[in-house]
Amino acid sequence: MNLHVEPLGESYDVVVVGAGPAGSTTAREASSRGLKVLLVDRSLEIGVPDKCGEFIPSLEEMRRLAPKAENLEALFDPPGWCIINRTRRVNFNFPGGVEVSIPFKGVVVERKLYDKYLAMEAARAGAELMPNAKAVALTPNGVLLRRFGQLQEVSARVVVAADGAYSLIARMGGLPIPRDPYDYAVGYQHEMVDVEQDPANIEMYFGERYAPGTYAWIIPKGRDVANAGVGVRAPYMREGLGIRDYFRRFVEQHPKASEMLRAARATAVKVGCIPVSGPLKETCGERMLAVGDAAGQTIPSVGGGVPTALICGRIAGWAVAQHLLEGVPLRRYEEEWRRQLGETLENSLRMRRMGDLLFSSDRRFNLAVKMGWVDEETVMKVVLCRIDAKMRLMEGTLLRVLGR
Ligand SMILES: Cc1cc2nc3c(=O)[nH]c(=O)nc-3n(C[C@H](O)[C@H](O)[C@H](O)COP(=O)(O)OP(=O)(O)OC[C@H]3O[C@@H](n4cnc5c(N)ncnc54)[C@H](O)[C@@H]3O)c2cc1C
Repeated sequence: MNLHVEPLGESYDVVVVGAGPAGSTTAREASSRGLKVLLVDRSLEIGVPDKCGEFIPSLEEMRRLAPKAENLEALFDPPGWCIINRTRRVNFNFPGGVEVSIPFKGVVVERKLYDKYLAMEAARAGAELMPNAKAVALTPNGVLLRRFGQLQEVSARVVVAADGAYSLIARMGGLPIPRDPYDYAVGYQHEMVDVEQDPANIEMYFGERYAPGTYAWIIPKGRDVANAGVGVRAPYMREGLGIRDYFRRFVEQHPKASEMLRAARATAVKVGCIPVSGPLKETCGERMLAVGDAAGQTIPSVGGGVPTALICGRIAGWAVAQHLLEGVPLRRYEEEWRRQLGETLENSLRMRRMGDLLFSSDRRFNLAVKMGWVDEETVMKVVLCRIDAKMRLMEGTLLRVLGR
């Protein structure tokens, strides 16, 4: 086949591929530091479709969750028009009807609005936005884009892969993207109306029967609207069952969720993939770097990736500017995000691995309950990614007894 490639288009300091939270924040930061930035996204409309539970911890919780991350107040202050609910507690619903409720404040944003807001902020800082532009290859000069059926190459001194989980650009840049199905969760979610809920409470549900390898959730978006979803990891699923079977089972049979969702009707279906094996071993390549889900910077124990995308995006934009304006090696990005977030993400991965051992069967989980391990104090440590002597002891015991 003979593909016609338009002559080399304009050249930029930075081309950012993907206008999610990671890409838009990178673009905003790099532009505000004086770089010429192009932010491209394959979607016709930035933020659409969204595939997210839409929950973001409050600033106060982020300070506890990522104590080394700097200047969080500038990142965790979404405008009022993007916030559709505020939550105060998270209820953990474990197998056998065991419930633990913890205070944990957060906001539920309308991601379609929030992502567009972040992209607009990048544009206001000077970035050029290009929706409906799909990156199809990383080239020696920059990026090859497909737009309106035409191929067009744009040149860049640095390319940022912010194109989400299993990033094409990160793979083409030679970064070590995981390929094992254990390393990914898939989320399937309906936005629903007529949900019987307390809008201040997030509900999370654990157990092999409903969400093998991860968890299910109901995240309130207002009085009677919620995102109800299940997460699964393929190697933990029973043969013959698909993710929609687990979702149906959750909605129809979970003792508590089925009550809350008895009259609920879907207004949207959202499906997506989430990296849950921790950050890539390397997030910087030759004249390129990866950020957000593309870099595996999601919090592995819960699959939340918006907060980390914002934090790492700002660091990425700063590091690219340092590199192009001051000659600082691009690798500074890697050092800096690891300094600010590395421990949180590493601890969270250890928690996820403990969860893998505990939740792979309800019998195992019941043993943990009998050992007195399932209480508010422990759950809070898991949520805040804190590993202390008691958690280390639990981890050691789990690995010794169940980790064979
Ligand atoms: C069902 C589900 C529920 C979730 N719930 C939550 C939650 O409640 N809270 C939370 O914090 N996280 C949640 N997450 C995770 C969260 O959505 C991601 O971690 C977050 O969106 C990562 O941001 P990002 O900018 O790295 O990537 P993304 O938001 O995935 O953005 C990537 C962008 O790149 C674009 N793109 C992809 N390929 C190309 C290409 N080739 N060319 C051009 N553009 C391209 C896409 O269109 C997209 O806009 C959830 C994920 C799923 C799947």
